[in-house]
Amino acid sequence: MDNCIFCMIANGQIPSTSVYEDEDFKVVFDIAPAAKGHLLILPKAHADNVCDLSEETAAKIMPLAAKLGSAQMKALGAKGFNIVVNTGEAAGQTVMHCHTHVIPRYEGEAPIVANWAQGSYADGEAASIAQAIVKAL
Ligand code: 5GP
Ligand code: ZN
Repeated sequence: MDNCIFCMIANGQIPSTSVYEDEDFKVVFDIAPAAKGHLLILPKAHADNVCDLSEETAAKIMPLAAKLGSAQMKALGAKGFNIVVNTGEAAGQTVMHCHTHVIPRYEGEAPIVANWAQGSYADGEAASIAQAIVKAL
């Protein structure tokens, strides 16, 4: 897609620091890392977000993310990693070319992703919300 920065990076039109490439993906350093070694998995074929990916491409992302996270732990001494896919502006997606963050987490750091305030449901609310989701599937 024209004028898409991640299309240009994934397809080599813009140079990047890359740790992995195959026919479907290029994996590059995030330009403003949440932690040292923060990676982005970029599909080479443009898709606005995860909902627009082919199932075939989507199925390859989680195994690749796990492999990259394991390498971050082995090579960088990370003690864990977050796999994050922001989808839609409301969820914090700022670049509208689907990408998966693999963020290494180091000892002593506060969790930066799963640190939301814990909410609760009123009586019957969970069941009715569940019903709405089931209907939409
Ligand atoms: P989002 O908020 O859309 O999930 O994440 C977009 C990510 O892309 C951000 O973490 C941001 O730092 C990164 N980013 C934005 N522009 C560039 C760029 O030109 N090159 C690289 N490598 N990363 C970028
Ligand atoms: Zn693109």
